[in-house]
Amino acid sequence: MALYSEKVMDHFTNPRNVGVIENADGVGEVGNATCGDIMKIYLKINEDTISDVKFETFGCGSAIASSSMATEMIKGKSVEDALMLTNKAVAEALDGLPPHKMHCSVLAEEAIKEAVKDYYTKSGIAYDEALFPDLSHEEHHGG
Ligand SMILES: [Zn+2]
Repeated sequence: MALYSEKVMDHFTNPRNVGVIENADGVGEVGNATCGDIMKIYLKINEDTISDVKFETFGCGSAIASSSMATEMIKGKSVEDALMLTNKAVAEALDGLPPHKMHCSVLAEEAIKEAVKDYYTKSGIAYDEALFPDLSHEEHHGG
C-alpha cells in the first residue's frame, strides 16, 4: 500500500512555484517542531489579487507537496480567497495525506495567513484580528 498519493509524489518531486519574490508584498514564515519543517511564502499582490506566489520549504516531503499545492491554489485568487484556504482543502487536493502528516499541510495554511497579515500590516490595511488566530503560541511551549 502506498503511503503517499501520486499527487503528493508529483508535487514533492516536481514542486511548483519554488523560489523567492524580491520586494514581495507579503512574506510569511512558519515552522513546526514535529518534523522540523520550515516554510516561507512570498506574495506579490496587485489590487487585492495574488499575481504571484513563491515558496521556500525546508522540510519533509508532505510539507513540500503541501506548499506546492497551496501556492497553486491561491495563485490568481483574491487575498480574501487565500485566507479561506484550509489545510484540509490542501490535503484533499493532494488526494490525502497520512494522518500523522496532516500537520505538515497546516503549515501551508499558516504560512499563507502570516504572509497576508504581513501584507496588510505593510500596506496599512486595517484587518480583523480574528482572521488570524495566534499562530505563534505553539512555538513557545518549552522544547
Ligand atoms: Zn512535515
